[in-house]
Amino acid sequence: MQSGAADALAVVHEHILVCTDCPLHLKRTQAVPGTGPAGARIMAVGEGPGETEDRLGRPFVGAAGNVLTKLLESIGLRRDDIYITNVVKCRPPGNRDPEPAEMEACSHFLDAQIEIIRPDVILILGRHALARLLPGAGGISGLHGSRVVRGDRLYVPLYHPAAALYQGSLMRTLEDDMRKVRGYLDEAEARRRQPLPAAVPEGRAVASASATPPAAPPPPAEPLLRLASDEPDEPAPRLAPPEPDEPALRLGSPDPVEPAPPSEPPGRDQLSLF
Ligand code: SF4
Repeated sequence: MQSGAADALAVVHEHILVCTDCPLHLKRTQAVPGTGPAGARIMAVGEGPGETEDRLGRPFVGAAGNVLTKLLESIGLRRDDIYITNVVKCRPPGNRDPEPAEMEACSHFLDAQIEIIRPDVILILGRHALARLLPGAGGISGLHGSRVVRGDRLYVPLYHPAAALYQGSLMRTLEDDMRKVRGYLDEAEARRRQPLPAAVPEGRAVASASATPPAAPPPPAEPLLRLASDEPDEPAPRLAPPEPDEPALRLGSPDPVEPAPPSEPPGRDQLSLF
């Protein structure tokens, strides 16, 4: 079973590495499919590879990757246990936002990765990934740290780890939200450990079912946010317009939108998206 998922994921990665379905392949050094085990219980989805990711072929390396690693470790998780990927697998030139057509062309890869891994929780890193995975759900400033159920999947939007590099106060918010993620995971783990109902012999369904009722699931620590639009196979969404309350992260852009002054300016090689 696990081997089958790993094989299927490897096939998706192979397709990504040679994909030429959108113009982003023209200037990439290499595609960045994703890293982590096929059996990961947590998946993290960012926006797209930055300069360092494009060079190394791995997602979330560099300064923002270090923030993500520390956040995961703060709730007892190892980065190697998480499957990490992006909405688009090739670096947008100059770290610009990916175009809607590029996201649409790439969306089937992310859908396949989610379908194969079927994680307990999908961490949505930043507003662009939020717009792709939960279109119409709202902004990152209102949803961060919340559980959002769509279909049979549980999502937790978070500020992008790079945001904490530019706006120090967001680090506390990220840490608080990660503690909530720990609680969500514990609940998911408890649900998975519940014993399956015993096999019911044919003709004795009523008596058996009443004799061994299934255990009730644990109460949720936070209210679940269920979205009215609940179509897992809906078409790839378009990018939402920028939100005024999220710090601009792209220094490569010639005219960034309201860049927040860095509290601790990172080195130049850390100024890509990640
Ligand atoms: S971004 Fe996605 S669709 Fe575009 S070339 Fe890369 S892998 Fe293909």
